[in-house]
Formats: sequence, C-alpha cells, structure tokens
Amino acid sequence: MEQLSDTVWLHSVVTRGFSVTSGVVMARDRIFVFDTLDSPQAMAPVAGLLEGLAAGRRIVVVNSHHHWDHVYGNAAFAGHDFVAHRLCRRLIVTQSRSGSASVPPPPPEGVPLPSVGFGDRLRYDDESAAVNLIHTPGHTEDSIILYVPDQQVLLGGDTVEWPFPAFAQRDGGEVYLKTLRALNQLAVRQVVPAHGPVMGKEIIDANQRYLEDLYEAVRASKRSGVNRADVDLPAEAFIADGVEIDETYRTMHHENVEWVYDEV
Ligand SMILES: [Zn+2]
Repeated sequence: MEQLSDTVWLHSVVTRGFSVTSGVVMARDRIFVFDTLDSPQAMAPVAGLLEGLAAGRRIVVVNSHHHWDHVYGNAAFAGHDFVAHRLCRRLIVTQSRSGSASVPPPPPEGVPLPSVGFGDRLRYDDESAAVNLIHTPGHTEDSIILYVPDQQVLLGGDTVEWPFPAFAQRDGGEVYLKTLRALNQLAVRQVVPAHGPVMGKEIIDANQRYLEDLYEAVRASKRSGVNRADVDLPAEAFIADGVEIDETYRTMHHENVEWVYDEV
C-alpha cells in the first residue's frame, strides 16, 4: 500500500493486463474503502491496513460504479455498509447476467451488493474531515467520485482515466463533458484514476480535450459520409504528444470511436 497523504492510502493490482487502484480514506469516525478491485484476495492488503487503523471506526465500502474490476472484491468486507449510486446495485446484477466475454465470472465468495444508494451527492461530515461522494455520470450512468476537500484529493474511479477515458454510457457525450467541467471547479491537488498514475488536474483537462476533439472529428467524418467501420482516427491525434499507448488502449479508442459514431 502507498500512503498518498495524511489520511489517504492507495492499493493497486494488475488484472487482465491493466492496473486498477483502490483507495482508503481515514476520517475521524469512519474509514472509507473506495472500490474493491477484481477479487476479495486482491483486497487483502487493504483489509490488513484496516485492522491496524480502524480502531473503532466504522468501515464504509464505496463502489465507484458497477464494472467488475471495481466491485468483485466486495466480499472481503462482507457485513459492512456498501455505498454506491442508486443505479449501481441493479447494474451489478445486470452485468453478472450479461454473459459478455469481457466480464469474468464473479468470485466464488459472491459480490455483496450496495446497501445504501444515493442520487446526486452524499456528504459525510466527520468533524475534522468531510468526505463527499459525487455523482459523475459519463463513463457509466452510475459513476461517482470521492472527494476529500481538506486533503484536496479526488479518487476518480473510471470518470477520469489516463491517457483517455472509456465510453460506456449510451448517448453520454454531453453529460460526460458536463461532469468533467464540474470536476474542474473543485479545489484538487491530486487526482487518482482507477487506471493510470496519480496526477494533478491536468488529467481532467486531457480527458475533456479527448472527448471534445473526438466527438468533433467523428461527427465530421459521419457528416462527410464515412461508414462506421471506415472511420480512421488514430488515438495519437487525441492524446498528449509522446504518450505511448498499448494494444488495450488502442482497442478501447477504437470502441470509443464506434460509440461516438452511434451517438452523433
Ligand atoms: Zn468502468
């Protein structure tokens, strides 16, 4: 585990070729676990840290959204409160029944579902440190982030991603841009994406630019009569100079292009 600030710890694993990060935030009366990675075993270091730190604090497990690599470790915290956006619970169930090749089977321990759901915002006020959960639709309709104002730390889930985000919300372009603009208004020093390195606010700017430029380019292609399968817009044109992307992200960009094509 890596300590990011006075009250924030991070834990990352590599699953299916990409890295996923979970966060722990300590407040006076509660400890928050933000995302549970791909299995209960992957959360063992976090469970170990909690044993040392919890000291009577209530453990609150937060799922940033329903995707398997953020919820499959929930069973490591069975019996505690699970908090998520109110759509998350249903989407976890739908995902488990989808039979999609991109979704591995759930762990044998099962996946405890969120027991507390909220709409736009949920704020925990522990005298010393407030913790805000904020609905940030765009990547998915149930995406949320966790914001710790006094540390100026933002745990972003998949709402922010390096070098660019994945689109998994039907017709979500405008709502995603609105989300990123709102995040840019927060006082933030460190942004922690679930996939990618800890950065400053430049990751929000980069994601915003990627969205704006890609929507514009795909719209122009479609208007000029290019077929969905023939749109030729390499990822490099939409990310910062010199950033290398691997096969996973090349495929993801291609899927984003098709996703946008269906929307514009
Ligand atoms: Zn996701």
